Amino acid sequence: MSAHAAPRTPDADALAAAASALRDGNLVGFPTETVYGLGADARDPAAVARVFAAKGRPSDHPLICHVASAGDARALVALMSPAAEALAVAFWPGPLTLVMARSAVVPDAVTGGRDTVAVRVPAHPVALALLRAFGGAVAAPSANRFGRPSPTCADDVVDELGDAVAMVLDGGPCDIGIESTVVDMTTDPPQVLRPGRISAAQLSQVIGAPVSAEASGPARAPGMLESHYAPGAQVRVVDAADAARAAAELAGEGIVAVMASDEIPGLPPDAVILGPMGDADGYAARLYAAFRRADAHGARWIVAVPPPAEGIGVAVRDRLARASAGR
Ligand code: AMP
Ligand code: MG
Repeated sequence: MSAHAAPRTPDADALAAAASALRDGNLVGFPTETVYGLGADARDPAAVARVFAAKGRPSDHPLICHVASAGDARALVALMSPAAEALAVAFWPGPLTLVMARSAVVPDAVTGGRDTVAVRVPAHPVALALLRAFGGAVAAPSANRFGRPSPTCADDVVDELGDAVAMVLDGGPCDIGIESTVVDMTTDPPQVLRPGRISAAQLSQVIGAPVSAEASGPARAPGMLESHYAPGAQVRVVDAADAARAAAELAGEGIVAVMASDEIPGLPPDAVILGPMGDADGYAARLYAAFRRADAHGARWIVAVPPPAEGIGVAVRDRLARASAGR
């Protein structure tokens, strides 16, 4: 079967076909409010193995299980702590992934052999409709090849994965644009493993106890790599005041693209302008599409002026730092 994007608001037939593809052990691309996911039946190790093969992802990197409700989440975990329950009530459906002790129904293929499982109830109506039609947990990483920027529209999924995916449900462009907040609920205090739209401060407020915002540092789990989410161009993160000089310097090496919240005066005339990216929310929503646009222009460098480190700006800065690391 070849990949094709179904209509923008998938109808009942498209959803039924996608659910049936999952039941047959095939892969389905689907929209969430964060980024597009590459889904497989979480109970089927052979289907899960196809996810790793399609992405070119090392098999010890755990996947997130997507479910339709907190009730379905409980079936995947040994125990949902009161703090986890409170976060589920406050933020599900939504861009929050909880890492908890797993139950026996979750295969090793999903968790990379760990004794924990990552679970999320996504908020996108198409994702929820798919999960309900399928009636089980869908293991899904972002629908990009390993190490590449996450896809934020259906066409990106087809470009990344081609025929490896049986079908892509088109739910339009993603609202949030960067991946979910991942928080490890098995540690005391709970620890943010990956920053996202929901901040450590918001989590802490709901549970009435500290949450560690420790998001950088060495990889806590395989898949939390220093270098990740990277376009083909090299990324250099600079302050607004240094952007014009950096762009002029790097212009000697090839095409330079620039992303910033506001217009940068004094850029070289042939610089590719990827912005204005807008405020931190706009920046997040446009980030990966801007990476892809830079690559389409054949840019050698991306000069990025990050948004302030507030709210989702923390997560945008994390992705920019990872995109610029280790190249
Ligand atoms: P992605 O597959 O691109 O959506 O990324 C999923 C993220 O969730 C990765 O960074 C994983 O390391 C993380 N993750 C998934 N399961 C676990 C787990 N059991 N423990 C810690 N992190 C996890
Ligand atoms: Mg990913």
